[in-house]
Amino acid sequence: SHEQGPEGRETPIQCSLVPRVRPMSAAELRRGEQSALHCSGSRTLQVSVAFRFGAVLDGARTQEDVFRACGVRRLGELALRGFSCTVFTFGQTGSGKTYTLTGPPPQGEGVPVPPGLAGIMQRTFAWLLDRVQHLGTPVTLRASYLEIYNEQVQDLLSLGSPRPLPVRWNKTRGFYVEQLRLVEFGSLEALMELLQMGLSRRRSSPHTLNQASSRSHALLTLHISRQTPYQVPSVDPGEPPGGGKLCFVDLAGSEKVAATGSRGELMLEANSINRSLLALGHCISLLLDPQRKQSHIPFRDSKLTKLLADSLGGRGVTLMVACVSPSAQCLPETLNTLRYASRAQ
Ligand code: ADP
Ligand code: MG
Repeated sequence: SHEQGPEGRETPIQCSLVPRVRPMSAAELRRGEQSALHCSGSRTLQVSVAFRFGAVLDGARTQEDVFRACGVRRLGELALRGFSCTVFTFGQTGSGKTYTLTGPPPQGEGVPVPPGLAGIMQRTFAWLLDRVQHLGTPVTLRASYLEIYNEQVQDLLSLGSPRPLPVRWNKTRGFYVEQLRLVEFGSLEALMELLQMGLSRRRSSPHTLNQASSRSHALLTLHISRQTPYQVPSVDPGEPPGGGKLCFVDLAGSEKVAATGSRGELMLEANSINRSLLALGHCISLLLDPQRKQSHIPFRDSKLTKLLADSLGGRGVTLMVACVSPSAQCLPETLNTLRYASRAQ
């Protein structure tokens, strides 16, 4: 059986990891800063030491390059076949996590992101809807969009006034958010509207590193269920039953509390962000360790890891994009991100 309780022995996750360097910003160039990162060849990132990966994406890579190089279509295919697939972006604030997933912020009310700058999410949406049209079997698509802020879950698509929703667990569903709104959609336009609605409701708070930075984790999940009129024998016996999921996770900035000068309320934010990120890092390193003796994965340690338990566990396939800034000022955090990334690959 493919069903596993969160406490059961999980198989190692299938995971790929690609670092992306954003280009120098106009402000950094004006200050005369030099890029502290160099890509040598297509697989090596040279900082003070060299980090080798399956692929690295330098500052000249376009959004389309990133979508192709990361193999996001393969992830989409697996989700259509019933797997739980997840794309994460992680890295410090200002390193390009949100840009990589959703493109630059809109230039005004109702002004759409230019198609060339659309992120992994919009590209996957367009691909998926096109693919579903050509499948020939009926597919039901639903979306949910939530934010985890100070270890509280908020529904970004809720119709009522926002309030924290509880995370629960049961045998059939695993971890789930009670009363989370799942919206059925049939067109790319409808899905883009849901994305815009969620993006405009994301929290941000003034912060000394980046004014508009979001201090929360945002999870947009596409729930895919294929209805078959009668039971067709599965082509691949290893294929899991039930519906697939495709989840996009824009993680909060991974920078250390001290570097941001956080106080009071912000300190609370930074602590719960770190708690979720630490828990995530801990679960991933346990799952990826082939010598692991311990069967228990501590998914219950944070809201984030609870909600990602099925993606990280036996039925999951994960892509992580490690976002880094080229600026010399960001070097300590860049090294942290790359160390974390090279351990996770
Ligand atoms: P994060 O979400 O990690 O805090 P953002 O995605 O908001 O970072 O990126 C910070 C700034 O850099 C934004 O103004 C964004 O538009 C810009 N940016 C990030 N990555 C790129 C890129 N690859 N090309 C051009 N601009 C980028
Ligand atoms: Mg962001």
